[in-house]
Amino acid sequence: MINRAQSILKETFGYDSFRLQQEAAITQVLDKKDALVIMPTGGGKSLCYQIPAMIFEGMTIVVSPLISLMKDQVEQLREYDIPAVYLNSSLRPEEYDYNVKRVMRGDIKLLYLAPETLMMDRTREMLKQLQIDCFTIDEAHCISEWGHDFRPEYRQMTEFRKDFPEAVCIALTATATPRVQEDIKQSLNLTDSEAFISSFDRSNLFLKIADKKDPENQLLDFLYTRKNQSGIIYCFSRRQVDELAYLLDQEGYSVKPYHAGLNSRERSINQREFIRDDVRIIVATIAFGMGINKPNVRFVVHFDMPQNIESYYQQIGRAGRDGLRSDCILLFGYSDTQKIKYFINQKSGNEKEVAENHLKELVKYLESLDCRRKPLLDYFGETYPNDECGMCDNCLSVDDDVEDMTIQAQKFMSCMIKSEESFGAGHVIDILRGSKNQKVLEHEHDQISTYGIGMEWSKDQWTQLSRLLLRQNYISKGEYGVLVMEDRGHQVLKGNENVFGTMDRTDVAIDGETIVRTSSDVENNYNEELFELLRVKRKELADADDVPPYAIFPDTTLIEMAYYFPQNKDALEALYGVGKVKKEKFGDSFIGIIKTFTAEHDIMERQKSLQKKIKKTTATEKHQIVAEAFNEGESIKLLAEEHGVKEVTILTHLKKYLDEGNDLRLDGLLQASSLSDRQRDQVMKAMDEKSPLMLRPVYDLLNKQIGYDELRIMQLFYLASKK
Ligand code: ADP
Ligand code: ZN
Repeated sequence: MINRAQSILKETFGYDSFRLQQEAAITQVLDKKDALVIMPTGGGKSLCYQIPAMIFEGMTIVVSPLISLMKDQVEQLREYDIPAVYLNSSLRPEEYDYNVKRVMRGDIKLLYLAPETLMMDRTREMLKQLQIDCFTIDEAHCISEWGHDFRPEYRQMTEFRKDFPEAVCIALTATATPRVQEDIKQSLNLTDSEAFISSFDRSNLFLKIADKKDPENQLLDFLYTRKNQSGIIYCFSRRQVDELAYLLDQEGYSVKPYHAGLNSRERSINQREFIRDDVRIIVATIAFGMGINKPNVRFVVHFDMPQNIESYYQQIGRAGRDGLRSDCILLFGYSDTQKIKYFINQKSGNEKEVAENHLKELVKYLESLDCRRKPLLDYFGETYPNDECGMCDNCLSVDDDVEDMTIQAQKFMSCMIKSEESFGAGHVIDILRGSKNQKVLEHEHDQISTYGIGMEWSKDQWTQLSRLLLRQNYISKGEYGVLVMEDRGHQVLKGNENVFGTMDRTDVAIDGETIVRTSSDVENNYNEELFELLRVKRKELADADDVPPYAIFPDTTLIEMAYYFPQNKDALEALYGVGKVKKEKFGDSFIGIIKTFTAEHDIMERQKSLQKKIKKTTATEKHQIVAEAFNEGESIKLLAEEHGVKEVTILTHLKKYLDEGNDLRLDGLLQASSLSDRQRDQVMKAMDEKSPLMLRPVYDLLNKQIGYDELRIMQLFYLASKK
């Protein structure tokens, strides 16, 4: 039966392989054995019951605590043509009756219910007449008194289970504490069940804590390079929410507030607009987030300090459910600690003590100089297995020190002058970065002396610099966003004044070398212009079907389209998240746009190699295949992409190949390294002195300045060159 599950995964959902624990949990449920699934947000819990539901002959009941969550699931399933409905108080009577009729006819595979609806006599009577194969409890922590959103109705569900002895039970939650897990098991009588627990590390979240110095400007700087992205900004108070929402609105952002002071209608409208991509940013108190399943939240900003680590983890967890890189920034100021202390002091006894401990834990996390993931996972009783994650401020030694940016400022402003002060920042940056886009070529700006002199910085960095220059009045903005010089700017060009500032360097390493935002070539190099066009189309299709855009396709699918440029529906099917149904429904609309775009820009389609091919090879041969492809000229990055694994996995394969006495292509290793020559020599010397086989001593000897990923590459280089 697991083969059946596998083919549904590919054909219906468009995914190549199960994630860790999914396969085991699904096998368990298909065997009609109870299961408790514990995975972080975005871990992929839904498929654990949705796929069995499609295989079982009878119906699957899903108990869900929130109307918005049920609606979200049903809308998504609808786009896959999977028959699912919900019954709850939000339906009009005729809708309710219609859904009941479909259930009774046996047309429905998944029935979503609130616990209250489930307990109603007429629901119980109805369900008794049907074959129920699976009983799913979503957000199962609601059942536990120790869970943060306990719902007494959930307690009665054991009763209900007795009506359906044939039905297997699967409970799912993202709550990690053992106490809650135990409570769930007991309440649901999951005696000989098995628990499927995933790691709580959300490796796609970039974690950063910044000193809260000039919070509004820090926030504006952060948002400036994220113009089209969705995100949530958490504040301490309603007043702060309203003020910030107003400020961002004035700055031209698409933004809405959310807090308990708004009436429920306003709140649900704002939430809906956010989910449907009609509004990009929500500024909220902690009241916002429950019941939000939006997968493409690209950032979460804590403008104020959260209450404790647990709520921090929950709130940042709302970013990046789709697995794409997302940024979580917290502005940490001393006065915030004082504010929280003030509230704690109004409590007493045990409650006060607990709150004090929470604060202490949180501050420890915020002040830590170690990889952020260590204390974070430690809090949930998990040990982070690596020394570095490469996705937090501490691992990237991103600091906010004030730096001298005079040289870049001079480059930027002379480029403005060379292009006659007639363009906006985007165009100036394109010239600096040597872009060959149409506008640059049209104006012959590839002929001017400042063309391509700014390759050392990313687009984001240049954008930040332009903002800094504007803010400090070196330049100003005229009509249509055209940048013009100010006197102060001319002083810089004459060398009479230096430019200082801080930069949000989340994407950037020291020495001006760009760190790739993720290890995925697709995510780093997709065509943003095409992505925007595809997104507009997606929104149009979503509105027509009255569902959120992500129910049509997730961002990942659009990103892959804007990278592989598929020219027909078959090529489309190789992409992430494209199953048969959606291919037929939406394929033509997107292919049309891609074809026009690629023809206009003279772009070639890229082949996405099917993972299936690779899968057939056994693990023992895999390292040989990888290493041989590498020696024939494929880059490590590309190999990782092709095999759908991290670069470090490829390095492991190469190491094994080398250990077996084979050679490795040295230039390919150098190409993968982003160290300077000087750094490389330092590493080689350190390996001479310590040993090339153990990286930790080398890492320490180099004052922890060079990360493990780089050291692994250099280790291969060292060993391969000394052979
Ligand atoms: P959770 O309920 O645990 O928060 P979801 O079930 O909403 O997570 O899954 C998060 C995202 O990951 C969804 O977009 C889902 O379609 C996707 N996903 C789930 N399983 C897989 C898989 N095996 N391969 C690729 N994507 C997956
Ligand atoms: Zn880290």
